[in-house]
Amino acid sequence: MSAAMTSYLVENARVFDGTGAPATPAEVLVAGNRIAVVADRVPRDRCAGAVVIDGRGAVLMPGLVDGHTHLGFGSTVEHVSSRTEPDAEKTLLTAHCGRVMLDHGFTSCYSGGNRMPAADVAVREAFAAGWLPGPRLRAASWEGSAGMVSPGHYDFPGVGGRTPDPDSVVGFVDAMADLGVDIVKLSLTGESAVVEGTSRVMQFFEEEVAAAAEAARRRGIWLTAHAHSAEAVKLAVKHGVRAIYHVSFADEEAIDMLADARDRVFVAPTPGIIWAHLNDRERPPTEGMETRETFESVCRVAPELHKRGVRLVIGGDYGFALNPIGRNARDLRLFVEWFGLSPAEALRCATQYGGEIMDMGDELGLVREGYLADLLLVNGDPTVDITVLEDRANLAMVMKDGRIHTLEPSRRRVFGAEHGAA
Ligand SMILES: [Zn+2]
Repeated sequence: MSAAMTSYLVENARVFDGTGAPATPAEVLVAGNRIAVVADRVPRDRCAGAVVIDGRGAVLMPGLVDGHTHLGFGSTVEHVSSRTEPDAEKTLLTAHCGRVMLDHGFTSCYSGGNRMPAADVAVREAFAAGWLPGPRLRAASWEGSAGMVSPGHYDFPGVGGRTPDPDSVVGFVDAMADLGVDIVKLSLTGESAVVEGTSRVMQFFEEEVAAAAEAARRRGIWLTAHAHSAEAVKLAVKHGVRAIYHVSFADEEAIDMLADARDRVFVAPTPGIIWAHLNDRERPPTEGMETRETFESVCRVAPELHKRGVRLVIGGDYGFALNPIGRNARDLRLFVEWFGLSPAEALRCATQYGGEIMDMGDELGLVREGYLADLLLVNGDPTVDITVLEDRANLAMVMKDGRIHTLEPSRRRVFGAEHGAA
């Protein structure tokens, strides 16, 4: 464990602390896996033995947190998954995706679902122990859908033609909890990008959602909802679902309910996947995919939620071949370009709110004394130009849990080499 006890002094940097305030010059001392000091000048008697990292005017900021990525879909900027690999290979792909996320500055991830939830759980443990590189992970179930058919089977038949079956939903929640997931995901609506015309078709009865919510509370785990329609969003809020994805067609009443629940709910409006479909040259969106309508509607809903104080998180359904992991920071730009947030406000969605969706808001997501040392050193200023985070080459350092994942070699020296020591 001696490597984890190394201390680091970051000097000549400007610090974006994650709250949305502008970046200002400061020094940061990391000791073990925590931020020990944030100050204009760290007392040099605390720096003995530290490795000095020269900021050279770059911006030091919290590691990014993604609120909706699928490690299990297996596609990254380095490798495309066929999605038909044998299970053992799917597990390797889940691990691969974690490493690529970390390479791109994502030090935490709130999983959007995995067809092999046991793989999400396994990599969560391996990433936490540090023997595989990857983000802090909240592991998720596969996406429960109407009739609780098998993982990876998406037909979205809707609730018509069947009777409510709360027992099977409770059985699903219990089975997932037994595997050790943190999150159970329910596809409350279909998805027109997968099965045309289903984004506003309810897949669950209210009594099933209520039963799932009660089971999740009993097991001490969270619910996430895939919810495009207003009706689905309302049901999710009413029954205490913690993270709500898409919210594309939320109406006034749904927006009011989200605003009233702002202290307990997180919303990922997932612009990344919409962008990917709009820009897909090989398979331009068909009318039935409702891509345009989804885009236009979410561009009305998301800014309103932001204005009303609802915590939006980034995470645009990354992990598909069309929308690979490694492009996650595109959501930040779309929060600015599509939803009208300032760059600093968009960053806060990925830092402070990220720490909060991980349920670690008192120790994750900010550059603050006592917080976990998940830090990026960024060439360029993302509070001015949010797009600098889309290019991995701008990440001079990625640190997770006080350990260097990547660092430009020329930035590093031993304390005392140029300072008269202590
Ligand atoms: Zn998703």
